[in-house]
Amino acid sequence: MDYTLENCRESVLKKYGRRFVEFLWEYGCDVFLCESMSGHVSFRLGGCVEVFIVPNSLESLVSTIKFLRNENLPFRVLGNGTNIVPGDGFIETLVVSTERVSELSTDGTKIYASTGVSFKRLCQFALKNGLSGFEKAYGLPGSVGGAIYMNAGCYGWETAENVVSVTVFDGVDVYNISREEAKFDYRSSIFRTDRNLVILGATFTCKPGERNAIEHEMMETLRQRYKKQPLEYPSAGSVFKRPRQDFYVGTAIEELGLKGYTIGGAQISEKHAGFIINKGGASASDVKALVKFVKEKVREVYGVELETEIEFWD
Ligand SMILES: Cc1cc2nc3c(=O)[nH]c(=O)nc-3n(C[C@H](O)[C@H](O)[C@H](O)COP(=O)(O)OP(=O)(O)OC[C@H]3O[C@@H](n4cnc5c(N)ncnc54)[C@H](O)[C@@H]3O)c2cc1C
Repeated sequence: MDYTLENCRESVLKKYGRRFVEFLWEYGCDVFLCESMSGHVSFRLGGCVEVFIVPNSLESLVSTIKFLRNENLPFRVLGNGTNIVPGDGFIETLVVSTERVSELSTDGTKIYASTGVSFKRLCQFALKNGLSGFEKAYGLPGSVGGAIYMNAGCYGWETAENVVSVTVFDGVDVYNISREEAKFDYRSSIFRTDRNLVILGATFTCKPGERNAIEHEMMETLRQRYKKQPLEYPSAGSVFKRPRQDFYVGTAIEELGLKGYTIGGAQISEKHAGFIINKGGASASDVKALVKFVKEKVREVYGVELETEIEFWD
C-alpha cells in the first residue's frame, strides 16, 4: 500500500461514505479529510486525523454533534488546541473544531461568550466595555470552551470565578447548567468526566471597572507571562498539574538539573522547567518520552506522582 495523501483520503471516504461528507456540508461545515493537526495545535506537531470538521456557526455545531451522535460516531472537540498533543502518524478519529463559533455580547455586567471565542478576545471585550474580572487572564491562550473544560487558571485566578452558567448540548437538548453543577475544581470540571456534554458557551459575571486600571493590570499580567514563560517556542503550556499546594513542579524539575534536557526535538525549557517546548521537529513520541522521564525522576527523588495537565490524543 502506498500511503500518499490521496490514498489516505480515498480510504477515509470509503470508511465513512461520500454521503457522510455531504451531510456535514449541508449542516454548514467545512470538511477536511486526513488533516494534519500540527497547524491546529500550539505545540506545532502531530499527525493526521481522519476527518477535521469545522462548523461555521453555533447552529451548525449543534446539528453536527446531533448527527454524529445519531450515527454513533465518536468525535473529539477541539478549541484552540493549546493543551493538546496529537499523536504521530494517522489518528483514527473525527475532530470537531469550535474555532468559528465565536459570538460575544454583553448585558450590564454580564458577558455571554460562545465556545470558540478566544480568551484574548474575551479579555479585550471586557476591557472595551469597562468590565473588570479578567485582568489576570490576559495572555491565557485558548478558547472559552477549553478554559471551562479544564477550569484554566493563572496568577491566583480561575475561570470558574467568573462563570454564572454554562450552555451545554448533550446530543439531544441545549440547556444551561450553573457554576455549582459544573463542579469546577483544580484544572477540572464536570466536562472532563461527562464526555457526553459539549460546551456551547458561557455567561460570565464581571464588575464595573475603570478602563485605564483594567488595561494596566492586563499589561502587567502579560509582562509577567513574557518574562517567565518560553513564549518564543511552540508548547502546550505547563505540562504537569500541581500535585499539592506546596509542591511547585517547575522548581522541582529545575532542582533536578533538568532544564534544557532534550529528547529529539522536545526540550525542558531553559526559561521555565514546567514547560516542554518544541525546539524544532519534535514528535509526540519525543514529548511522551520526556514526560515519562521527568515523572520517573520526580517519583524517584521526591516520591511524588505527577499527573499531566496536557492531553495526548492518540
Ligand atoms: C504558552 C501557554 C501558556 C499557557 N498558560 C496556561 C495558564 O496559565 N493556565 C492554564 O490553566 N492553562 C494554560 N495553558 C494551557 C491552555 O492554554 C489552557 O488549558 C486553555 O484553556 C485550553 O483551551 P483550548 O481552547 O486551547 O483547549 P483545547 O486544547 O483545544 O482542548 C482542551 C480540552 O478541552 C476540551 N474542549 C474544548 N472545547 C470544548 C467544548 N466546547 N466542549 C467540550 N470540551 C471541549 C477538548 O476536547 C480537550 O479535551 C497554556 C498553554 C500555552 C500554550
